Amino acid sequence: MKTIASELAYFLRGRAQKNLKVLFAYCAFLVILVLIYAVLFRVLMWNLEGREFSFIAGVYWAITVMTTLGFGDITFHSDLGYIFATVVTISGVIFLLIILPFGLISLFLAPWIEDRLRHQATYELPEGTSGHVVIFGMDAITRAFIRKLQIRGISFVVVTPDYDEAARLEEDEGLHVIHGSPTDIEVIAAVRTDSARYVIVNLSDPENVNICLTVRSHCQTPIATLVDDPEHAGLLRLAGANQVIPLHKILGRYLAVRSTTCGAMAHVLDSFGDLKIAEIPVHGTPFSGHTLQEAQIRQRTGLGVIGIWERGVLTMPTRDTVLADKALMVLAGTREQLKALELLAGEKEEEDLIFILGHGRIGCAAAHFLEHKPVPFILVDREENPSCTEHIPIYGDATVRNTLMGAGLDRAKGVIVTTNDDNTNVFLTLASRDMQPHVRIVARANSEKNVDQLYAAGADFVVSNASVGANILLNVLESKASAFLTEGINVFRRSLSKSLAGQTIAGSHIRVRTGCSIVALTLPGESDSKVSPPPETLLEAGSVMILIGTPKQEEVFDTVFMNES
Ligand code: AMP
Ligand code: ZN
Repeated sequence: MKTIASELAYFLRGRAQKNLKVLFAYCAFLVILVLIYAVLFRVLMWNLEGREFSFIAGVYWAITVMTTLGFGDITFHSDLGYIFATVVTISGVIFLLIILPFGLISLFLAPWIEDRLRHQATYELPEGTSGHVVIFGMDAITRAFIRKLQIRGISFVVVTPDYDEAARLEEDEGLHVIHGSPTDIEVIAAVRTDSARYVIVNLSDPENVNICLTVRSHCQTPIATLVDDPEHAGLLRLAGANQVIPLHKILGRYLAVRSTTCGAMAHVLDSFGDLKIAEIPVHGTPFSGHTLQEAQIRQRTGLGVIGIWERGVLTMPTRDTVLADKALMVLAGTREQLKALELLAGEKEEEDLIFILGHGRIGCAAAHFLEHKPVPFILVDREENPSCTEHIPIYGDATVRNTLMGAGLDRAKGVIVTTNDDNTNVFLTLASRDMQPHVRIVARANSEKNVDQLYAAGADFVVSNASVGANILLNVLESKASAFLTEGINVFRRSLSKSLAGQTIAGSHIRVRTGCSIVALTLPGESDSKVSPPPETLLEAGSVMILIGTPKQEEVFDTVFMNES
């Protein structure tokens, strides 16, 4: 239901707000005009007719004449006085009776009525609309996802039950929005769900279930939904969702993987058949401080080092790259080769201890992951987590120094900063770095905007909810064989295009032309992949390549090499 306050709020937004400023300026102009007329009235009355009036009488006269009320109680009796009164009347008609109402109608009333009409729930997408993405629920994740859709030129429509949000998104951000209840079958039909490419559902779990059921009763368009509680995944599938994304669990796992300082365990990020893409911290391996050439990782294990992560920056290593103690290596190889590396890295030679600051949905998921490794951890939260009965955190505000010191932060090897407030996360990152200069800090950014601040505050890795969520949604949408490593790096699989067949890797200039590097190559008829193939390797027709690059480089690769039919 629309309240008067929410209707008035319309005038404080976007275009209406700018128009309000114009109205104020115009009113100021009218006040000044009345004041000038009042002064002139007094001067003329005194000089022409010898009569004296107060300033208030002058204002009263100017307003009655300008509004053509003209009570006739104060009038001039000289020609010059008549001329002045005529000018005041005409200017009043023009400025007060014509321009002012016209301005009010065109600047406020018309846009307001137009706005009402536009956001009626019966409004629908034009017939024949197809291939678009229908998005239910706006938050930082869908916002980041929309930015990716815009870059790729994929059309979309957002459905929101919140009238003000619909108006704001459309007015301020120029998004295509339809206001209406997401569980209303008419709305589902109006946004042409049946001919859409995908439906993305991102509200609370019960609402998501409801929307999936409604969409399924209408059409078979694939649905991807985010889920708060992983235990609800089954229900959502039952309701018709094709892809259920337990984002908090994934984020918790990402944070946990990067927080542990035990070097011995590689974490597999993704698999392409037998080929695994994995991360392992340099710390705890015998390679720390050595160049890649000295480390001899390929010679000793067969693994290819395809990237080095250090404080949020991923670089493609060369022979002379030094493996810094705090860095993570991104490796490509088989599970056996990873095992060989783990053996080389040796057993845990030190006890690990991770502090998890924030025992919400993500912190709890991180704790579960560490439990299984197993790595000891301590949880800190100021509140109880009603959906967790397994963990016992230390209760207290983590921003209070004594809470962390009292909990023994000085013993921590790693810290996961995962509260739902980015200011708190920046503060906790800075405070942990100050208390423990050598600890590994992994921080969560609730908004993409705060990623840089978290790195500046001293985080070793930042995981952004919005980017991880948006990347997963995009991968689902494009049904990509693409692994999401972390912010801004993709590993993807492509069949060799005709134009590349018969060339060597060096001769293809893939790296020069696109920035992507070939991580592995599977030759036709072979099941094993050749990891990090040397530049002189021949690209045989029918081979499959696995490449690494930024999302932009992946796009360039597709434009340069895949756009042939
Ligand atoms: P979630 O977004 O579900 O991962 O929840 C975030 C968690 O962070 C909640 O359980 C909050 O109680 C917790 N939290 C927020 N601020 C603080 C703080 N200053 N100290 C400790 N815990 C906090
Ligand atoms: Zn828990």
